[in-house]
Amino acid sequence: MSGYERSRELLARARKSLAGGVSSDVRVSMKPFPLYFERGEGALLYDADGNAYIDYALGQGPLILGHSPPAVLEAVDEAMRRGQIFAGQHELEIEAAEAVVELVPCAGLVRFSLSGSEAVHAAVRLARAGTGRTKLLRFEGHYHGWFDGVLVGPDDDGGAAPLSQGQSPGAVGEVIVLPWNDLDALESAFARHGEELAAVIMEPVMCNTAVVPPGDGYLEGVRAYCDRYGALLILDEVITGFRLAPGGAQERFGVTADLATYGKALAGGFPNSAVAGRADLMERLGQSVNHSGTFNSNVISMAATVATLRELTRDGNAAYRKIERTGTALMDGLREIGARLGIPLLIQGFPPAFYLGFTEAESFENAADYAARADVERYGRFAVAMLERGVRVLERGLWYVSAAHDDEHVARTLEAAEDALRQVFNA
Ligand code: PMP
Repeated sequence: MSGYERSRELLARARKSLAGGVSSDVRVSMKPFPLYFERGEGALLYDADGNAYIDYALGQGPLILGHSPPAVLEAVDEAMRRGQIFAGQHELEIEAAEAVVELVPCAGLVRFSLSGSEAVHAAVRLARAGTGRTKLLRFEGHYHGWFDGVLVGPDDDGGAAPLSQGQSPGAVGEVIVLPWNDLDALESAFARHGEELAAVIMEPVMCNTAVVPPGDGYLEGVRAYCDRYGALLILDEVITGFRLAPGGAQERFGVTADLATYGKALAGGFPNSAVAGRADLMERLGQSVNHSGTFNSNVISMAATVATLRELTRDGNAAYRKIERTGTALMDGLREIGARLGIPLLIQGFPPAFYLGFTEAESFENAADYAARADVERYGRFAVAMLERGVRVLERGLWYVSAAHDDEHVARTLEAAEDALRQVFNA
């Protein structure tokens, strides 16, 4: 390991021209400080100082086939040489749409944007248009992008509060925030606001906080309340989509949304996102509901999507089987090390996306559990100790696994983890 000197110099230079030194706020919190990277290949990531890492950040999720997957790069390279955007249509966007409609349970029709935030924006607009209602119910600890109408958390007296300065109070005022995984809380919210609710939006697995799975019957319960009160169910599958299964969480849990949003893994590392849903709702696009974008369905994004979905599903979904195997071996191995060293660690979630954290709790069921009982400070030190041993994990405990990770990466990761855990727990 050669330290982070080059990264340090680059960050100092960046701060003179790039606001905050980074291009996405999430990256400010990288430990030991925002590092610079030069190259990624398969499961490996290389930084500006020449350090190599087995990567479980995977670009915050998109790299489900690993870095620089050859089949995707070739498809993009071939397609982009014939043009980039046409202010018009091209056949690849139909192929991409057909692939999504075939895989996604709720997808009667689909529309593409570039980021997950935009897909959520389109879904919420469609829900308001489709119901003629305005209120949106969301949950503490879930993340739906950085736009005004969804970047909202609970305030101290049961209301909703903006999470950034500069948000429109009007947009925030339409939002109700509840604890997740709590059908009683949902029942009373529906009793009070059910007739005004355009939609309930949630991550089907709370990947953005401790990868909390839905409790038994919870998704079905939410679906039933939505149906009873005429509100729509929006599942935000930006993380779970094309990751937990070819048809995402809807396939894995057998619950169907009215509208669902996708991004990240959809295009294997290239920018693409989608809103998909019931045809009677989606048909409003292009008529009474506006959704636009200069770069929507650009050639690169569409070629990447078609190639990514083809790679993921080839040989009877072999990529998914491999990810399940690798992720399971990692989860089991980390648990075994924790038990052997007597370290209170919690692992929960699913092999393609799981949570590792330090806590005496047996599980986290919601965001309040996590806030009260996760030792976030010590996990930050663990993430740095892992970097020093050639493994990159996200500071918030979310581990992504790709089809490029294999048994040897797992073995090396477990060795690094044991050593790093001994260091941060003095075990
Ligand atoms: N929804 C979820 C569930 C997400 O995790 C994210 C991003 N982490 C978004 C929406 C927003 O996506 P993007 O960052 O591409 O705008």
